Amino acid sequence: MPDFTGKSVLVLGGSRGIGAGIVRRFASEGANVTFTYAGSQAAAEALAAETGATAVITDSADRDAVIERVKDSGPLDVLVVNSGIAVFGDALEQDPDAIDRLFAINIHAPYHASVEAARQMPEGGRIIVIGSVNGDRMPNPGMASYALSKSALQGMARGLARDFGPRGITINIVQPGPIDTDANPADGPMKELMHGFMAIKRHGTSEEVAGMVSWLAGPEASFVTGAMHTIDGGFGA
Ligand code: NDP
Repeated sequence: MPDFTGKSVLVLGGSRGIGAGIVRRFASEGANVTFTYAGSQAAAEALAAETGATAVITDSADRDAVIERVKDSGPLDVLVVNSGIAVFGDALEQDPDAIDRLFAINIHAPYHASVEAARQMPEGGRIIVIGSVNGDRMPNPGMASYALSKSALQGMARGLARDFGPRGITINIVQPGPIDTDANPADGPMKELMHGFMAIKRHGTSEEVAGMVSWLAGPEASFVTGAMHTIDGGFGA
């Protein structure tokens, strides 16, 4: 396990699910962790009390609030952008405002947060964004906006890796498949369909994703940048 003692880590969207797993992991590895939340104040306060991390409210749909939060965090050793939403349904019936809000949270926030973090990041800084295997494969109807948003992160990582590489800052995308969270419960109605696509026929855990994030943030990943790291039980194999 890497030692992040004294390292400053900011997780956008850390109150529940995969984000909470990432907060727990970095806190257990000694980092000074701050995480944001939007709607889940009680869960955020409980996680802060459990881990010693600091919880702050910041809506990832609010571009300027995201930029301010990152700026106010000072020089970060690690930025993780985990906040993300899905809007399911017939593309012909969906509310354009709901789709644009998804793009704001899933695309605009990761971009602006990454750029703002890089302004103050020291050499060796790490940016990790949670994408999805749906950035590569979209086997279901009704999720085009989500797939688009996760594919967009791939181009972002490739481009910003070029911008930040000369300063020793890496940026990588972690692309989970089905992970057991409130957004995608292991016993949910889509279980059989999703497991049918997979080589390992179960949902993954937030801890499994957090392990990959921790490795990417640690010293062994110093030569890894501009890359997508899929952790999906073979969903896209
Ligand atoms: P959950 O819905 O379980 O949790 C989402 C987290 O993001 C919560 O902490 C939530 O905070 C936060 N969040 C959502 N919207 C905002 C916002 N506007 N501002 C700030 N924080 C926000 O989702 P998961 O843990 O399942 O997903 C986390 C990430 O992983 C997402 O990017 C998702 O796309 C991705 N992913 C998930 C997969 C899965 O199967 N679970 C598969 C592939 C990718 P709060 O409740 O406080 O608003």
